[in-house]
Amino acid sequence: MERSISYITSTQLLPLHRRPNIAIIDVRDEERNYDGHIAGSLHYASGSFDDRISHLVQNVKDKDTLVFHCALSQVRGPTCARRLVNYLDEKKQDSGIKNIMILERGFNGWEAAGKPVCRCVDVPCKVQSPNLNMVCVMCLVPLFLIPLINLLPRIIDLLMAKVYALLGWEYRKPARVPPACPFKPVAKNDNATKVAAETGTEGTEAIAKPIVAEETGGVKHD
Ligand SMILES: [Zn+2]
Repeated sequence: MERSISYITSTQLLPLHRRPNIAIIDVRDEERNYDGHIAGSLHYASGSFDDRISHLVQNVKDKDTLVFHCALSQVRGPTCARRLVNYLDEKKQDSGIKNIMILERGFNGWEAAGKPVCRCVDVPCKVQSPNLNMVCVMCLVPLFLIPLINLLPRIIDLLMAKVYALLGWEYRKPARVPPACPFKPVAKNDNATKVAAETGTEGTEAIAKPIVAEETGGVKHD
């Protein structure tokens, strides 16, 4: 099987790089330790690449696409990709690897293009699950705040009751009027409340009253 080496850009790779059929092979040497890496990428340093090439083939036996990169993908990345092609050609074994690619501009280009960089120290990088890691945990914080915000009126009531109790006063919860429908004219609402008040309705019933008054035609325009 004739294998050729093609190039892929960081923008093309980004949506694909966590697919289970793709392996990213980082052949940088010690820079990986302090520059970070593409999440989930495998590290096969160029210095020891030949010694570990059979290990690599074994490691990626369920992948059909390998994307090589070094810092710039100028020398080490393409060289290691070529060595793998030669190795596979010599062995003539069916490895399942169909595409061998090189990441254009390497890791430095990836990082410069603002693509995500993993800085974990796990060997190998264990970031594999695509969905969980696509969402930043901090972005989820507002979600957790929603129930808290809903509880806020109750919390304030509770606090106010405590403060009032400390001062020896009696605290009454303010009656919460449901928000008025924005499509109703304001004047009409006022009239309805007036009618309700005049008919002697008190407390929470007064809130329901305007609707009843309107339905029975009890409200008249000025
Ligand atoms: Zn990592």
